[in-house]
Parts: sequence; structure tokens; C-alpha cells
Amino acid sequence: MLSVHQFVRRFSTSQSMLSKLRIAIIGQSTFASGVYKLLRQDGHKVVGVFTVPDQGNREDPLASVAKEDSIKVFKFPRWRQKGKVLPDVLDQYKSVDANLNVLPFCTQFIPMDVINYPENQSICYHPSLLPCHRGMSSINWTLIHGDKKAGFTIFWADDGLDTGPILLQKECEVYPDDTVDSLYNRFLYPEGMKAMAEAVNMVANGTAHRIPQSEEGATYESALTKKELSEIKFDQLNAEQLHNFIRGMDKVPGAWTHLNGQFVRVYGSRIWSVPVPSGQEVTVEGMKQPAIVHKEGLVLFGNDGKPINVQKLMFEDGKMINAAKYGQSQDEIQEIELTEEELKLADSVKSIWTGILNLQVSDETDFFKSGAGSMDVARLVEELKEKCNVQLENEDVYLSTVFKEFIKIVVLKSRGVSSGPLLDFDSVKIKTNNLDLEFPRQLFINNQFVDSTNDKKLKSIDPSSEKLLCEVESASRQDVHKAVMAAKVAFEEGEWSKINARDRGRLMYRLADLMDEHKEELATLESLDSGAVYTLALKTHVGMSIDTWRYFGGWCDKIQGSTIPINHARPNRNLTFTKKEPIGVCGIVTPWQCFLQQCKQPSSKRPSSMGNFVLKPAQVSPLSALKLAELSVYAGFPPGVINILPGTGSVCGQAIADHPDIRKLGFTGSTLIGQQIMKSCASSNLKRVSLELGGKSPLIIFSDCDMDRAVRQGMGGVFFNKGENCIAAGRLFIEESIHDEFVKKVVEEIKKMVIGHPLDRSTAHGPQNHKAHLDKLVEYCDIGVKEGATLVCGGKRVKRPGFFFEPTVFTDVQDDMYIAKEESFGPVMIVSKFKESEIDDVIKRANSTEFGLASGVFTRDLSKAMYVSDRIDAGTCFINCYNKTDVAAPFGGFKQSGFGKDLGEAALNEYLRIKCVTVEY
Ligand code: NAP
Repeated sequence: MLSVHQFVRRFSTSQSMLSKLRIAIIGQSTFASGVYKLLRQDGHKVVGVFTVPDQGNREDPLASVAKEDSIKVFKFPRWRQKGKVLPDVLDQYKSVDANLNVLPFCTQFIPMDVINYPENQSICYHPSLLPCHRGMSSINWTLIHGDKKAGFTIFWADDGLDTGPILLQKECEVYPDDTVDSLYNRFLYPEGMKAMAEAVNMVANGTAHRIPQSEEGATYESALTKKELSEIKFDQLNAEQLHNFIRGMDKVPGAWTHLNGQFVRVYGSRIWSVPVPSGQEVTVEGMKQPAIVHKEGLVLFGNDGKPINVQKLMFEDGKMINAAKYGQSQDEIQEIELTEEELKLADSVKSIWTGILNLQVSDETDFFKSGAGSMDVARLVEELKEKCNVQLENEDVYLSTVFKEFIKIVVLKSRGVSSGPLLDFDSVKIKTNNLDLEFPRQLFINNQFVDSTNDKKLKSIDPSSEKLLCEVESASRQDVHKAVMAAKVAFEEGEWSKINARDRGRLMYRLADLMDEHKEELATLESLDSGAVYTLALKTHVGMSIDTWRYFGGWCDKIQGSTIPINHARPNRNLTFTKKEPIGVCGIVTPWQCFLQQCKQPSSKRPSSMGNFVLKPAQVSPLSALKLAELSVYAGFPPGVINILPGTGSVCGQAIADHPDIRKLGFTGSTLIGQQIMKSCASSNLKRVSLELGGKSPLIIFSDCDMDRAVRQGMGGVFFNKGENCIAAGRLFIEESIHDEFVKKVVEEIKKMVIGHPLDRSTAHGPQNHKAHLDKLVEYCDIGVKEGATLVCGGKRVKRPGFFFEPTVFTDVQDDMYIAKEESFGPVMIVSKFKESEIDDVIKRANSTEFGLASGVFTRDLSKAMYVSDRIDAGTCFINCYNKTDVAAPFGGFKQSGFGKDLGEAALNEYLRIKCVTVEY
């Protein structure tokens, strides 16, 4: 059976037949004023606005916008007396001659004489999925009851309480940490306004439904207006109910209790699923055990003894603080010097305050003490967004209530600096490498570190000791959906979608600078998590990643289209131009090879081209990705732009590939999984894909090469990062006359390689990434031996704890052998000979693979080198060097090594779409 929601969507028809209506808007608030604007944009005539009387000297925003357009405004204190409509009020209402009443948000009781008066009667917005949660506090009750779905209903007003027939209904998921504010801001407000306009258009073109409400599942709950209803009854609520109760009151009316005898309202609740931290104990009225103030907030307990954590406290005088600071003196916000432009911004903010408070605003004016309430907070946030292009959270207003402090927050936000509270996450702390390392272990969604919804964990194992480093949250499909929605909202209407291209670049530079400042921590994490040798990680993995963010940061304001001469439609003239637009929300899935080395993925692709992304690092090495997420918040990236979800390929990776709102997937990994990904991308929503897949890159060494250089670079080609390198030289072809000397020199050099702990500065060769990979390498070499190749050295595990594998050399490898064809992704040199002067033959052998990622050639004869590079079938060809990649040089494979470029200018186009605009004049 179809739900009301599905029914209404299915039978909604086009608006092509739209006739215009004469509308009376009855309601109040910025929501009503937003609806007012949309209705006028759609061409309807608003013939009158009926709102509440001014409060003190403050007028409702609906009245203000209507007055600006010279629309008649009525401010009746009441519509009826003793149950009867006031005749004078009714006459005034009738005088506007509306044919539809629209009630977007109305707190007054409107008599049936008015409801039924217009030809099309009255439609009304209600923030719940009716018949559930009828009554005034429906959003609160949605959360207090722990509903998994929320939404709104537009219904035909009748004489009951939210009982009229349904016209339109839209639903959304409720996230585990949603509050009244977050639900309202992310769905009920923006989508509700649009839906009101949609409903009016349905009435206009005669397609509006009237679906009677069922009494089944109907609930009526009391309005949360009385103070006693928001008191926390600790003895009656388990931890989950406590969490739901607090978020169901967040921000209005605010659940309250007494801390050490002091009245406080509590906000920002999360279920606390990790061990209870130590901290200062405080007594809470009605709670069996003391609450704990700690670095990340205040832990409270349900009657089942389980903890939750709250982040903010508000005292009776309206002053809000971070709960972590309870009992301590508050930090002042630093003084900042305003530029000329920021002084103008301060003036605009002052006029918004003046408009809301209707009084002379000075530096010392306090928003709440001047009479503002919670609806004014919403209005302030909305007006700032609209008029100053600055996106604040409601919380920012509560935390800085005095104008001179508030303006600092606004300016910092406009500079892209996060003014919010300290990032709240559940961290892992390790003392190592002369550092106190601290990093997150949770999913990173919408600039918050959160637990996964399925309670599953990944184990991060230190490959040099085989011991557990920590457990990391593992994302579910639901988490992927949540992250995609956050990215979508940020992409379509968040700060990132409005920010100037140059400012976007500035943020990327800032992240690069922060990575530079934290490079020792990042490189240590790469070592611990993936076994990368520290010195190499510092220079290459972290260093190149920093370069990549800077390089693409520089591209941000250089993405431009072209003008195209088309035939004019004479006698008129035409202009055709193209624009490069971001493609939308992108997914990224990376392999276990050190994450930061893969950072060309997130940096090159998304921020420069404005698309937001959801990234899954490999389950066995997610730590540096999470550290990067943390730094991105400090750099000032707005919520939703960067989302990082550690998880398994089969669940999290697959959910990204399947998600209908992801428009592009950048995948790096094996060819086998790449093929599977492409199928999923095609069947889900035809999302664009770029694939950076496996390789078996040939390296041809001619006898006229610089031998020492060829040995050094050839070894680098194979053993760099213990062979865990996609462009590793997978097969060496050595000209017969130098073959033995080359192999001898390689073996001598291998003997000098120090195998050891990756954090030791003298180590040249660290452990393989994880156990399964190590086992595969052992098997790979066993096959080589069985097939008759000569094992010159290595081929087995190093006798020490950790996943160490000996640097290995095979010679006499024939073209049809398994090890000649398959990638090892480990420290295994595969050597084959070729005869003097048989250039074409060796090129043919080098090309006889389905891979085509990279290749190399060593010779002093440049013509010969160019001849090889012209004919080799690979995306990259190194001449007299190897592994010489650079952020400015395009990188990507041919054939089954994938398609799409990762670095250089070419990478930008992977995440842009071209729009062609033609004008006639
Ligand atoms: P992989 O097994 O293909 O895995 C790559 C990523 O895909 C991992 O995050 C994996 O998740 C995820 N995944 C697995 N199944 C999935 C599914 N059904 N849907 C979506 N995602 C899924 O590769 P790997 O073993 O990690 O990495 C080694 C391979 O990567 C080698 O072949 C190497 O050549 C290649 N590589 C290529 C490049 C390049 O630029 N061309 C660079 C580096 C590496 P899990 O975490 O569960 O494994």
C-alpha cells in the first residue's frame, strides 16, 4: 500500500497549467516571510498579510517584508472572543478578498469563518508526519519519542486540532544526534518553505489532494510550554531516553536540571559509547551518581547507569558556556582588527540587530537582554546568511550574546575561521616517536566525529609489532547516506557553495599549512598504521600531499570556460559561452597503500572544483585520513565539504558506489574491484567514474645506460615503500649483455638495506601493510619458484615480529609465468632478459599485459628512449628516472589500469561538467 507521502508524490502533476491565486498569508516568523517571497516569485498575488502584533517595539518579519512591498498588513491580537469571531476582524479579513488562505506558521486560533471563507479554503503547515504528533510541540515529541523518521505535512485546515485532510507530506531520516534545531535547519525549514509553495501551485492548477487523515497511529501530545515539562527526571529515563529527551528540547525550551544546586539547561547531547572519562565530579539533582566534567563536555547518567555527554550549558541569566568549562573561568575571544570591508560587514550586522531589536544597537547591547527570543535567533541567522553571506549556527548566537563579541564571531566566520567550540571527538592517545600523538577514531560527518550506527569497529594493527593500535568506527550504509546528505546540503545550499573561488583556495592553502605544522604527527601515523618508513613518509607521503593541496588550491580561481563563435541567427546576433561547473557530491574510495600518498584524490578532485566528497579509506589504514579530517576543521572547512568514513569495502565502499546522490566516484584500488565498482556506478545512477587501478609496469634497461643510476633507480622502482606502490616497476627487461652485472649489483645493494622498525631513522625497508598481504607475497614467491624462475634472494618472511618480507629478486622469468603477468604489490623484483638490438620485440613483450599504468626506460641514447616512450602502452613513461611523479604532471593509467587523471590540470576536468549557454540579442 502506498504511504500518504508516496501517494502524494506519485500523483503530483506538472505546473504548466498554473493559474495565479489571490492569497492571504496568516502566520508569523522568518518561515512565513520565506513562504511569502516564494509565492510572489511564483506569480501569485498576496492580497493581505495577517500576523501577530509587535512585541514591544519589534515587528514580526512577515509584516516587515510585506510592508516593503506595500501589501496590506493586519496585526490582530486575537481573531475571536468567547468562541465567536470578532465581526470587525472578520470584515477586515474579508476586505482583502483572498481565494486561498496560507498558514505557514501560525500560533493564533483562526476561526472557521475565516478558514472556510475563501473559495479554495485554507492550507496549513505542520512540522510532523500527521497523524503522528498533533499539537504545538510536534518536532520536540518526534525526538523525545526516538522516531526514526521526521517530516512535515501540509493539510487542509478544519475545525479539529491538526486533523484536516492531507495535501502534501515529506519525510526525512532522523539522525542519532539530531536536535530540534538541526532537524528544523536541515529539513523542516528549507524543504518546508519550498513545499508550501509547491502546495499552493497544486491548488492553483487543480491537482491538490485531500487525503483524509487516519486515526490509526494518531498521537496528541501536550505543548511544552510549562517549565515543569522540560525538567529532566533522571530516575525515569534510561540513557537513550535521556538523550532523546535532551535533544528533543534542544534549543527550545531546553531540558533543565540543577548542577551543584545551580539551575542549568543542557544542550548538545550524544550517547557516550566509550569508557567514561575521568574529570571533576558534580552533583546533579535526581541523578544517582555524580556527573563528570571533562575535556569534551559533561557526562550524565541514565537510570540504567549508562552515560551520555552534553556539550553546552545555559544558566538562568541566558549565558551559555561549553560544558567542558563548567566551574572554570571562561576564555575571552581574542581581539581582532577589522579590515575596511569587515567594518562594512559590521555595519550591516548592526543594522540586522537594529531591525530585529528595534532599538539603537551599541557594542554593549545584549541580544537577549534586549528582548530577543529563540525565533529571533533563527531570524538573525537567516538574515546574516542572506544579507552578509555568513553562515552561523544558532549556538553561535547563544554563545556570544553581546554585540561586540558577536561581531568577532561573524568576522572570523567570514574569514573562513571556525569560531565554534573545540572539536569534540573520542581520541586515541599514543606516546611514540618523541610525540604525544592524539588522533580521532570515529567517523567524520558534517564536521563532527560520530560513532557509527551499527556499532561495528575496525581493528587497526601496527604492522611492525602485529599488536592492536586502536579500534576505529566502521561506517554502515546508513552512515554513508548521512554523510552524502551532509555533503549534498553543503553543496547545494551551504557556505561552500557560496564561497568565492579564491577564498576556497585560501582554505586549501590553510589546510596545507596545518598539515605542514603537523607533518611529524601525520608521518608517524602513516608509519604506525601502514608500515611506511618514517623519513620516507615525511618527505614523500606527507610532503607530496601538502604540495597537492597547495597546487590545487592555486587552481581554484582559474577554472574558466570559453566563448565560441556560432552562426548568428540573422538579423539577430548570438553569443555562446561555456562554464565549468562542479559535478556534485563525489565519492572517493582509496586502497590501503598509505592514505596520504593517495591524497591526490581528495585534494585535486573536489575542493578545487567545489564538489564535496565522502571518502572511504581502506579498512586497514584509516588513521591519517581521520587526522586530516580533524585538521580540515581547524583550517575552517565548512561542515559537509569533507566527510571521511572508515569502513569495509563490501558495506561502506559499496554503499558509496550505489548511492543515488553521488555523481562521481574516484576509485583507487585493484582492477577486480574497479570492474565491480563500474558496474555499481552504472546501475545505480550512471555516476561518472575514474579508476586508478593495478599495474605491472615494465622497466626496460638497455646496455648503454648509466649502470649505477639504472641500478639505483631500478631498485627504487621496485622497493620504494616496500613495493606497495601502484607504479612499482613490476617487470624489469634487462639487455642480455648487462643482465648479470645488473643483478649482481642489485643483490649487493639489497644486502646493505636496513630492515627495521619504520620509525627508526636508519631503516630503509619496513613491514608490509597487513598480514593478508604478507601471506599473499609468500604465496606469490612460492608460485614463482614452482614455475621455474630463479629465486636469487629473498622470497620469505623476515624472522622477527611484524609483517616484514625480504626484498626479493627473481631472474629467468619467462613471459608466460604467473609472476611475469601478475602484480605483487610487494618488494619483488622480476627480471627477464632481452637480446641486443631487439627493441621492437622487447617493447612488444612489455606491452603484452592488460595493465598500462607506468613504464620506464634507461639508455643514454635519447632517440632510442623516445622511440620506446612513443610505443609503450602506459599512462606514464619515465626516461632515465623512475617514480618521478609530480603534482603538476597528469597521472593515470591505460587499459585495465583504469582511466581518468589524478594530478595536474587534467585532473580538474574529472570533477567538472561543462555547461553551454547561448544568448540571442
Ligand atoms: P582493493 O582490494 O581493490 O581495495 C581498494 C578499496 O576498495 C579499499 O578501500 C576496499 O575496501 C574498497 N572496496 C573493496 N570492495 C569494494 C566494493 N565492493 N565497493 C566499493 N569499494 C570496495 O585494493 P587494495 O588491495 O586496497 O590496494 C591494492 C591495489 O590498488 C593494487 O592493485 C594497486 O596497484 C592499486 N593501486 C592503484 C593506484 C593507482 O593510482 N593506479 C594507487 C594505489 C594502489 P577494504 O578497506 O575493505 O579493502
